[in-house]
Amino acid sequence: MQYNVAQLLREPTGSTRSFLVEKTSVGGPESPEATQGEVRILRTHQGVLVNADIEVEANLTCSRCLRGFPRSSSLHIEEEFFAAIDLSTGRHLDQPSSDEPSFSIDEDNVVDLTEVLRQYVIADEPMKPLCRAECLGLCHVCGNDLNQGICKCDAGSLDPRWGALAGLLKTADG
Ligand SMILES: [Zn+2]
Ligand SMILES: [Zn+2]
Repeated sequence: MQYNVAQLLREPTGSTRSFLVEKTSVGGPESPEATQGEVRILRTHQGVLVNADIEVEANLTCSRCLRGFPRSSSLHIEEEFFAAIDLSTGRHLDQPSSDEPSFSIDEDNVVDLTEVLRQYVIADEPMKPLCRAECLGLCHVCGNDLNQGICKCDAGSLDPRWGALAGLLKTADG
């Protein structure tokens, strides 16, 4: 997701460009992919301000039933990119000093949104992904996927600490 802003940087502050997002892989364990969206780039005093709305699809693993499922989300990105060189003199510019990580326009006047998007995708991922809110998860005794049907252990509603005991009782019964 690279956008050349050489022309825009020669224009006055406030000038804008819009780009449509093409299907792109973002990279990462859940293989997230940008599917569509729009990127607006505004010329600022020190560089450009990127405003983007991007649809991302990723393959997550449900924390209850361990099945993979697709999740799509709309991310809104707003980040300023600072120019690395002064276009009129060609000299390197000092990056604004700040504790905040900042992004810069590279020396070929390219704004690369891939890393930015990757960070937004990570921040957006749920800590405990669920394939659906009412996912029943796996049986603590036999590992059966309770979404597919109740197993014979009938342990789905039991505290997992009782699971082993329930298993023993069952053996004694049989
Ligand atoms: Zn699930
Ligand atoms: Zn079971």
